[in-house]
Amino acid sequence: MSKKWVYLFSEGDASMRDLLGGKGAGVAEMTRSGVPVPPGFTITTEACNSYYDNNKQFPEGLWEQVLEALKDIEAKTGKKFGDPSNPLLVSVRSGAKFSMPGMMDTVLNLGLNPETLAGLAKLTDNPRFAADAYRRFVQLFGKIVLGVDGEKFEHVLNEAKGDTRQDTDLSADELTAITEEFKQIIKQSAGVDFPTDPFEQLRYAIGAVFSSWMGRRAIDYRRLNKIADNLGTGVNVQSMVFGNMGNDSATGVAFSRNPSTGDPHIYGEYLVNAQGEDVVAGVRTPRPIAELSQEMPEVYAEFDAIARKLEAHYKDVQDMEFTIERGKLWMLQTRTGKRTGAAAVKIAVDLVKEGVIDEATAVQRVEPAALDQLLHPTIATAEKDAARKVGKFLTTGLPASPGAATGTVVFDPDEAEQLAKDGKKVILVRTETAPEDFHGMVAAQAILTARGGMTSHAAVVARGMGKPCVAGAGELKIDYKAGEFTANGQTIKHGDAISLDGGTGEVFAGALTTSQPTLTGDFAAFMEWADEFRKLSVRANADTPHDARVAREFGAQGIGLCRTEHMFFEGDRIDAVREMIVAETVEERRTALAKIEPLQQGDFEGLFEAMDGFPVTIRTLDPPLHEFLPHGDDEIEDLAHKMGIAPSKLKAKIEGLREANPMLGFRGCRLGIIYPEITEMQARAIFKAAAACKARGIDVHPEVMIPLVGDVNELKVQGELVRKVAGEVIEETGQQISYMVGTMIELPRAALTANKIAEVAEFFSFGTNDLTQTTLGMSRDDAGRFLPLYVERKLLKDDPFQVLDQEGVGQLVQMGTDRGRSTRANLKVGICGEHGGEPSSVMFCHKVGLNYVSCSPYRVPIARLSAAQAALGDASRDK
Ligand code: PEP
Ligand code: MG
Repeated sequence: MSKKWVYLFSEGDASMRDLLGGKGAGVAEMTRSGVPVPPGFTITTEACNSYYDNNKQFPEGLWEQVLEALKDIEAKTGKKFGDPSNPLLVSVRSGAKFSMPGMMDTVLNLGLNPETLAGLAKLTDNPRFAADAYRRFVQLFGKIVLGVDGEKFEHVLNEAKGDTRQDTDLSADELTAITEEFKQIIKQSAGVDFPTDPFEQLRYAIGAVFSSWMGRRAIDYRRLNKIADNLGTGVNVQSMVFGNMGNDSATGVAFSRNPSTGDPHIYGEYLVNAQGEDVVAGVRTPRPIAELSQEMPEVYAEFDAIARKLEAHYKDVQDMEFTIERGKLWMLQTRTGKRTGAAAVKIAVDLVKEGVIDEATAVQRVEPAALDQLLHPTIATAEKDAARKVGKFLTTGLPASPGAATGTVVFDPDEAEQLAKDGKKVILVRTETAPEDFHGMVAAQAILTARGGMTSHAAVVARGMGKPCVAGAGELKIDYKAGEFTANGQTIKHGDAISLDGGTGEVFAGALTTSQPTLTGDFAAFMEWADEFRKLSVRANADTPHDARVAREFGAQGIGLCRTEHMFFEGDRIDAVREMIVAETVEERRTALAKIEPLQQGDFEGLFEAMDGFPVTIRTLDPPLHEFLPHGDDEIEDLAHKMGIAPSKLKAKIEGLREANPMLGFRGCRLGIIYPEITEMQARAIFKAAAACKARGIDVHPEVMIPLVGDVNELKVQGELVRKVAGEVIEETGQQISYMVGTMIELPRAALTANKIAEVAEFFSFGTNDLTQTTLGMSRDDAGRFLPLYVERKLLKDDPFQVLDQEGVGQLVQMGTDRGRSTRANLKVGICGEHGGEPSSVMFCHKVGLNYVSCSPYRVPIARLSAAQAALGDASRDK
């Protein structure tokens, strides 16, 4: 006896996804649970694989089993395949283990030919319905099975309809004429007569499904999503039911709960007298499902009960397709419903409250990235669509920092600051931003740049502040002089309103309506559950007391990175910083540093206060010094005047600091090694702040971090200096402060020699921004030019500055951690690059055994949830 290739729906169940494909297993499970499903059968994925092993021939016994299964359908429906007096019609669709774009679409009404067509017309007493069914079949079969360009059919159909009529307005005769024209098109394009034998039609269709498995699009999709080629696809053959048999028939799609809000009522739409694809294709406007409860109350009640039953069965929201044929309800498909972040949280919490799932399952039900939508203001899709329709869409850049904002366009950071002081809402538009624009960024509602990638200055700073940012919008042509920019053929002037969505990168002209996030009780409860499961600590990258407080509200357990230089631009302290940079002698430098020290101490006190009881990691000065200097002639003159030196001298000094490759130049610990007085001042500010806070009863845990270390000797020198200052302050103040000195691991050499570095470092923090830059040899400031294209052309799956390159950079993280702990077993290891808030990267950090991740405050909830899911394992998550 040959192998079993064919399973009736009544023979399968949900566990048979490998063999029957997702769709087949789903329909079988519905059939088993007593839901009314039109009878049918599934050809197994093994049959598909055998078809390929067998030189694209059906494996032995397959066709015979198909014929047997058809008999079963005939018995159940009382109809007969190919019988003009009572024809059985079937649908044929593909169904692999994972739902896969690129696979064959559905062919409907298979089994029709001129004879069965006449029979169907007579039987239903509805020649128009029959003619329409045939038209659809010939069209779908031509396009999907015979590979004829679908546009050709659409063209004929549109010509026939004209401008004013819908397809329901076409008469039987018109439809018949259209179908004949379709057949001519098929003959010309595919070179075959349209098959009239239903069995031949079925054979063709099954073969076409098998062939689509090795179609170009399907193969590409599998490569990209790492799905194996040898899974094969199932083929589902199912008796047709008709939603277009008159006004007591309908078809629709519905969710068991609202997928936008999570509201626990049926949500969906339906069309009377229509077939499935009409709802999806948007040919006619469907009606809300609530109206069905008035129009067909009994059917609605039955549907509602089935939806509840399926939801209880699958323990999750279901997205269902149904058809009503002459008052009888049939369920065609059910699958897990996709939902927004807000709905995902509400549904997960409600299902726990209803006793359907447990907390661990709830935590695994929400995509961490989807939380973003809950934490920031948003612009409704309908609002955006409306704006597009009236030509207000401007451009799409990189979604650099989520959230939506509206405001008037300002190009100058000083003006942004001034207008914000006057209570105006502004959006700062720059070609790119630099540290000296910081005050303007603080003042703006959002930032829009024409250049720069996901780790450009604008992107990093905006994320840190939780401010929306669209970066690298390359189509933007900014003319600072004229005070305007152009995009999409429109000119936006200084003072005009624009809106942007930093979560999608879209920019619009005009002020669109934004809605504020509500962190409801559900959200808080949900996050508490997540915290119960995770092993990783989650800290925040925060530079100001304000950021630190926000971070605490979002659940951060400390600061993992304070970039001390970010405070240099506050108020007029930049003057002292610049004085320090251009100083010629140690004394001059010390004089300038003495002005900065109390200001830094004040900042650090604010951080310790906000983080009472939690660790605060403060990094010594890192960026190349020229970043702090003015570049315009006016500004240079101004500064020279303030410093009492000649502008030409200052200009020469600035010139002298210019570097060919500043990212690999005089920066990081190299600054503190050449100018130890800088590190000394910073250490003093840190420990004096800690001592002052401790005296006020605050529980302080300073961790001093040295950046860009490549050799243990660098850390030794800087570490000794920090410890010396700490000792002095402890002695001076009499406050015992327990602290740690550690290092960033952000150069490949540091990861490779981590065992040596750990002899000195008490903790590591992976700076994966620089580690990515130096491992890939890609400048983080210049990669915006080519990385998006790399991703678009699938050379890289993701931008490595957004999603940790686990295969390459990840090896260094793993190696650095293991080697570090080989010499210091209790070494604390974290990550503070942008990856610390990206779900897949956080999961990787869990896997390699890091102690914590640190990310921008607004990503803390995302990291908490990712860490929880990593700990729970993603076994039960549906792919
Ligand atoms: C890093 O390099 O990953 C890091 C956190 O430091 P920065 O982004 O300030 O260079
Ligand atoms: Mg770095």
